[in-house]
Amino acid sequence: MKSLKLKTKLLYLLLLVGFGLVVVGLIGYINIQNIKRNMDTLYFGSLIPLSDLNTITATYHNNIASSVYRWSHQLLSDEQASETIMQGLDQINHLWSDYLSHHKRPEEMAYVNYTETQIQSIGNYFSEVRSLMNDSSRSHPISLMTMDENIQSIHSTIAQLIAYENATAKYEHSMLLAQYENALLQLVFFLGVILALVMGLAWIIFSRIEVQQQQLIASSETLKHLNLKLEQASYTDSLTSLFNRRYFNIVYEREFKRALRSNTPFVFMMIDIDFFKQYNDTYGHLQGDTALQAVAKVLRNALQRPGDYPFRLGGEEFGIILTDTDCANAHSMGEKVRAAIERLKIEHKGSKILPILSISVGGICITPTVDMSEDSLIHAADTNLYAAKERGRNQVMFSNQL
Ligand code: GH3
Ligand code: MG
Ligand code: MG
Repeated sequence: MKSLKLKTKLLYLLLLVGFGLVVVGLIGYINIQNIKRNMDTLYFGSLIPLSDLNTITATYHNNIASSVYRWSHQLLSDEQASETIMQGLDQINHLWSDYLSHHKRPEEMAYVNYTETQIQSIGNYFSEVRSLMNDSSRSHPISLMTMDENIQSIHSTIAQLIAYENATAKYEHSMLLAQYENALLQLVFFLGVILALVMGLAWIIFSRIEVQQQQLIASSETLKHLNLKLEQASYTDSLTSLFNRRYFNIVYEREFKRALRSNTPFVFMMIDIDFFKQYNDTYGHLQGDTALQAVAKVLRNALQRPGDYPFRLGGEEFGIILTDTDCANAHSMGEKVRAAIERLKIEHKGSKILPILSISVGGICITPTVDMSEDSLIHAADTNLYAAKERGRNQVMFSNQL
């Protein structure tokens, strides 16, 4: 997980959200389908059949039995009564077929079959009543009591069936409610689970991002620090820790141009250790290096203002650039450095002028003009250094013009 890229992590999050939505959608769909099916069962399986059964009972009472009564009070003729009874029976058969066409549960069939035989036998009874009505000789009278008994019997049979259908409808209604609540619970549960998962994953991802960000900040700080060190190293001479030749080239050009622009004095000094070849020959190269470091230390201590730059130009040659100074001060600065080296009293038996290590300094102090080249100043300092050597070494030669 830790090694996973940010993109992959976000993709996982999106996949989880997508998957969650699909699951919730699917659960919702399945539940809605179930609820619909149960509503259909309730409606078509119980409520519609109930209305059929109620109409059948009403037909027995209002059409058939009432016709017989009215016939018995001579309010209807034989034909009229027989016709109304036949229509009533037809209607009942029709309603019963409609009732049967709706879904029936197996446990319901005992009631249904019983009711059907009852309806058939009542149908037979009323067919007999009709034929008696149509028989003008009428050897048998039609008993209203028997008819009432038959009507009461079918009424109570159908009432039982209605009670059963009612109970079933109530049961289905309660099932429907339970299913609805169950569906709601399922949806809430899955939404909760998915929300928790998404939040958990998001938390993990964002805390990882934060950790990586911290690491990134830390490593960029380290990198900055290393870069600074590298930059310093590329400008520093490893033996003496003074600025090196490369940095000299940069500073020289920059400060020369600045002095040209600001019309201020520019100072450049070249320093060379006297008889250093002999020093190495006498004391060895390693001690020669130590002597170079001692000279560098003097330069560093003497030149501490922001505009002072000491360099090791190469070998036993050093350079100094001074800005924001005047020529008198520059000359005395050269003298100060020379005297400081002398005061070190580093033994140098090979020197032909003194028994100690010394330096010669050649310097130029000038306010640059556009017609002067940078090289001409270096050349002038070098010439002065050569002159100092010629004059006997351990001295400072300065000029204020080219
Ligand atoms: P002069 O007084 O005329 O300057 O005489 P010199 O012997 O100092 O002049 P030269 O340029 O002939 O000799 C410079 C010597 O400096 C040569 C070399 O042995 C020594 N040298 C140059 N670079 C290094 C270095 O990094 N370490 C050491 N120990 N010696 C160095
Ligand atoms: Mg030299
Ligand atoms: Mg030398």
